[in-house]
Amino acid sequence: MRRKLAAGNWKMNGTSAALSELTTLSDAHPDPGVDLLICPPATLLAAAAQTCASGRIRIGGQDCHEQTDGAHTGDISAAMLRDVGATAVILGHSERRAGHHETSEDVRAKARTAQAAGLMTVICLGESQLQREATNTLDIIGAQLSLSVPDSSTGENLVVAYEPIWAIGSGLTPTADQIGEVHDFMRTRLEKRFGAGVGRSVRLLYGGSVKPDNAEEIFAISNVDGALVGGASLKASDFDPIIRALEGA
Ligand code: PEP
Repeated sequence: MRRKLAAGNWKMNGTSAALSELTTLSDAHPDPGVDLLICPPATLLAAAAQTCASGRIRIGGQDCHEQTDGAHTGDISAAMLRDVGATAVILGHSERRAGHHETSEDVRAKARTAQAAGLMTVICLGESQLQREATNTLDIIGAQLSLSVPDSSTGENLVVAYEPIWAIGSGLTPTADQIGEVHDFMRTRLEKRFGAGVGRSVRLLYGGSVKPDNAEEIFAISNVDGALVGGASLKASDFDPIIRALEGA
């Protein structure tokens, strides 16, 4: 059985005052029925890990470098994430693919390094609006999936997040059928590549405008094992009902 996962991506939001949201969330979920992960900005990682040390919320980075160390000004290595208490990292978010020109090959190299360092990798995939209209979405997702996911992946160190770019931060969400089609497809592809054991144990998250009022419907879709949540993860009062919806799914 895959344990469900509610993951929050704070992006470039939050200074130390935001840690009180983590305290509230941690206190509200001392024994959650699902896995919880918050990925704050790098500047808050160490303090966030300390804030959550006695609770059940995992802390993750939003990116790491493909090299283990060296002359890469401004970058963060997987070992550095581990060192400050992170146990996971988001890789290949569409904002990094677009804003930092990251290719699926780059994402795979980062994921290989992160997995070798013992981090759980949350690898993001998703089509643009133009791609959905002009091409077969499953071709785009299939190519991103095979190129971005390294061979070193297992059910423990790999989570895949399907995040249609047009749904991120827009308030738009795909239909349940559209989400289900992509998630079933990703499951089949993972089973073919890694075998049924690993393929069935990798968690598949949906991301893109998940809110308290649509979470229940999204979590009822086949092969949706949780969510990667941006805006609605910033406030404990918004993320809390999403977590509860996932616990009840
Ligand atoms: C995201 O950026 O990963 C995301 C899903 O954002 P939002 O929930 O705000 O659409």
